[in-house]
Amino acid sequence: MDKLIHGTAAGGTVRVMAAITTDLTAEAVRRHQTSPTVSAALGRVLTGTLLLGSSLKEFDRLTVKIESNGAVEGIVAEANAEGKVRGYVKNPHAELPPKDNGKFDVSGIVGEGMFYVIRESGYDMGLYQTPYVGSVPIVSGEIAEDFAYYLAKSEQIPSAVLLGVLLQKEEPFVRASGGVLIQMMPGANEHIITMIEDTIRHAPHITSVINEGAAAKDLVKLALGEIDFEILEEREIAFDCNCSFDRAVTLISSLGHKEVASMLAEDKGATMTCGFCNEIYTLDERDLQKMLDAEKI
Ligand SMILES: [Zn+2]
Repeated sequence: MDKLIHGTAAGGTVRVMAAITTDLTAEAVRRHQTSPTVSAALGRVLTGTLLLGSSLKEFDRLTVKIESNGAVEGIVAEANAEGKVRGYVKNPHAELPPKDNGKFDVSGIVGEGMFYVIRESGYDMGLYQTPYVGSVPIVSGEIAEDFAYYLAKSEQIPSAVLLGVLLQKEEPFVRASGGVLIQMMPGANEHIITMIEDTIRHAPHITSVINEGAAAKDLVKLALGEIDFEILEEREIAFDCNCSFDRAVTLISSLGHKEVASMLAEDKGATMTCGFCNEIYTLDERDLQKMLDAEKI
């Protein structure tokens, strides 16, 4: 089971979040049938969104949306306070040759555009409030740098972000996935910041240590080196979507009596695919007839 931790270091002036996301990235890849480079991009965005959302209160959700001109066209991920994340890309089959160093060309497939972070509260309780939306231009397209740039520019929190996805040829295609987010809060000591920057510069790639069996706390150690930290919370995380057959019925009935009647007459049924998780809901003649009989539409 994938895990996320958050904690503090240096007397509370440094916040740390880390997550192992191998299973949930594999689930996203399985559901969306993404190409290798898109799988790497989507896994990084899902992981970064979970890390950024790790301090969410109950009933809150956080969405990261990338709108860009690269072949992937766009990536969306949404995390909630229970550690559930879901997400999709606009073009799952986009692909590019690897870069000269053999790595996936994630920045190439993302291209240029905008990086949005949307924070909503009261959503699950039906107490809808105006969401807080922050945005920055995409500066790198490699995703981790874009999360760091967003935090520095839009939230004035200097941060270090490491995100990585290691793929394999056989199912489940994802061998290792995870990330670390280190945030320097007001009052963080310059010496500590320099130490962390130096540690990260010399650290091995996170996917290699996850592949060797590292847990989330080991990823924090990888970024903080000798600096002690305290874990405040550990939680399980997973790819999970809140769509359901009942929601599909509600959505189709919202099309109105005429539309549902014509679906029944012409198509003898209806199908709906959830954009977030690719689950397909099939309504047969009986389901549509029941909707019409209910006379609510
Ligand atoms: Zn869904």
